[in-house]
Amino acid sequence: MNGTAQIGVTGLAVMGRNLARNFARNGLTVAVHNRTAARTRALVEEFGGEGAFVAAESAQDFVAALERPRRLVIMVKAGDATDAVIDEFAPLLDEGDVIIDGGNAHFEDTRRRERRLRERGIHFVGVGISGGEEGALHGPSIMPGGSAESYASLGPLLERIAATAPDGTPCVTHVGPDGAGHFVKMVHNGIEYADMQLIAEAYHLLRAVAGYSPARIAETFRTWNTGRLDSYLIEITAEVLAQVDAATGLPFVDVVADRAEQKGTGRWTVQIALDLGVPVSGIAEAVFARSLSGHAALREASRGLPGPSAEPLGEEEADRFAARVEQALYASKIVSYTQGFHQVQAGSEAHGWGVDSGAVASLWRAGCIIRAAFLDRIRGAFEAQPDLPSLLSDKQFAEEIGAAQDDWREVVAAAARKGVPTPGFSAALAYYDALRSERLPAALTQGQRDFFGAHTYRRTDREGAFHTLWGGDR
Ligand code: NAP
Repeated sequence: MNGTAQIGVTGLAVMGRNLARNFARNGLTVAVHNRTAARTRALVEEFGGEGAFVAAESAQDFVAALERPRRLVIMVKAGDATDAVIDEFAPLLDEGDVIIDGGNAHFEDTRRRERRLRERGIHFVGVGISGGEEGALHGPSIMPGGSAESYASLGPLLERIAATAPDGTPCVTHVGPDGAGHFVKMVHNGIEYADMQLIAEAYHLLRAVAGYSPARIAETFRTWNTGRLDSYLIEITAEVLAQVDAATGLPFVDVVADRAEQKGTGRWTVQIALDLGVPVSGIAEAVFARSLSGHAALREASRGLPGPSAEPLGEEEADRFAARVEQALYASKIVSYTQGFHQVQAGSEAHGWGVDSGAVASLWRAGCIIRAAFLDRIRGAFEAQPDLPSLLSDKQFAEEIGAAQDDWREVVAAAARKGVPTPGFSAALAYYDALRSERLPAALTQGQRDFFGAHTYRRTDREGAFHTLWGGDR
C-alpha cells in the first residue's frame, strides 16, 4: 500500500510534536504516531488546523500512511526506547525506506543501528537536532548523518523546516556517513557546556570582584550582546539575571540552588575526546564544574578552608575590570571552539567521515543553542582554508586573542588573588600558553616515565627510541 504522507513522526512528546507541526506548517503531509495513542489524538485535536496530519494509532497504520520510499522520524527517549521502536517498525519496512533518529543518541549506538539496518537495505539516519522545543517548532539546526543516498531523499524536507542563517542558508547539511550527525551534535552540546560555564564565570567575577548587582550584570551582558559576543546564550543570560523572584523580591539567581545538573552529552564529549586523545580542557572543566557544584556534602565540609575574601573594587576600577572580563570571555570562547572543532576533525579522521568544519560552523549559525555571530567568522575561516589545523591558526582569530591576552591574564590573576574559581578561563589560558610554548615540561614527564618504567623517550637531536640506565636501587 502506498500512503500520502511525505514524512512520519513517531514519539510525540515536546520535541516530536513540535517537529511534526513544523513539517506540517511547511506544507508537508505528516503521519503522526505515539506509543500512547492519547498523545497522537491530542496533537491532531489541538493543532490539526496547522496543516495536513494523518493520525495513526498502530505501527501498521503509521507505515501504511507513508509514501514510498518511506521516511519516518523517531523522536523518543534516547537509548533502549529507540531500539524498541526500531525493532517494532523495521519488519514493516522495505528496501530503500529511511528511518531517521532525531533523538540525542550516542554516535556509537547510531553506527551500530545503521550497520544492522543497512544489511536489510534500510537507510538509518542519525540526526542531531538542536534548539530545544522552540527550535523544533520554529526551525532547528539539523545535523544529519547516514548515507548520501538517504540525504538526497531527506535533505529537501529537512531544508524546509530548518532554521535559516542570516545569509538565507538553511541550517542543515549532510554532515557525513553513519554516526557523523550525532557525533557533531554531541560536540555541539560539549561546546554549549563550555560556553555556559565561561558566561557563568564572567557573571561570578562581575558579581564578586566588580561588585555588580545581577541587574547591572544583565545590562552589561546586553551591551556585550551588541558586539562580538552577540549570541543566544549571552542574550538569555541577561534575561535570567534580570529576573526577579516573585515570592521574595530577590534576584531570581539568588533563590536558585547552586547545583547544576546534566543529562550526559557533555560527559560523552569528554569521554570520547579522551578516547581520541583530543585536549578539550574547556569542555572537561565545564562538565567537572557542574559535577563539583552538585557535591553538597563535600562543599559543606570544605567551607571553612582559608582563602581571600573578595572585596569588591571601587566604581571606576570595577568598570575597567568589567571590560577586561569581556576580553577574557571572548578569548576563552575562541579556545573552546578551537577545542570543539579539533574534536570534530579528529572524530571525522578516526571514522573516515570527511566532515567539513566550515559547513558545521555554517549550520550552527542559527536555530541551535550555541548560535552566535561568531560562528559566521568560524565558517569564513574554514572556508578560506579548509585544512586549517586549528582555529588559532587563523590570522584574524590569532590577532584577536593576541589583543585580548593581557586583559585575559589580568582577569585570571585577579580571580586567583580574590579566590574566585574560574576553571574555564584558566584552562583556556593554559591551553593557549601550552600551544604557543617553545618547550613543554613534557620532556621531563618522558624522563620520569623512562626512569620508573623504561618507557623510552625520543631525543631532539637524533632519531629513534632511547632508554637511560638510571642509577641507584629501585
Ligand atoms: P522524551 O521525554 O525524551 O521521551 C518521551 C517520548 O518517548 C514519548 O513519546 C514516549 O512515549 C516515548 N517513549 C519512551 N519509551 C518508549 C518506548 N519504549 N517505546 C516507544 N516510545 C517510547 O521526549 P522529548 O523531550 O520530546 O525528546 C525526544 C528526543 O529528542 C530525546 O531523544 C531527546 O534526547 C531528544 N532531544 C530533546 C531536546 C529537548 O530540548 N527536549 C532537544 C534535542 C533533542 P509515551 O508517550 O508513550 O510515553
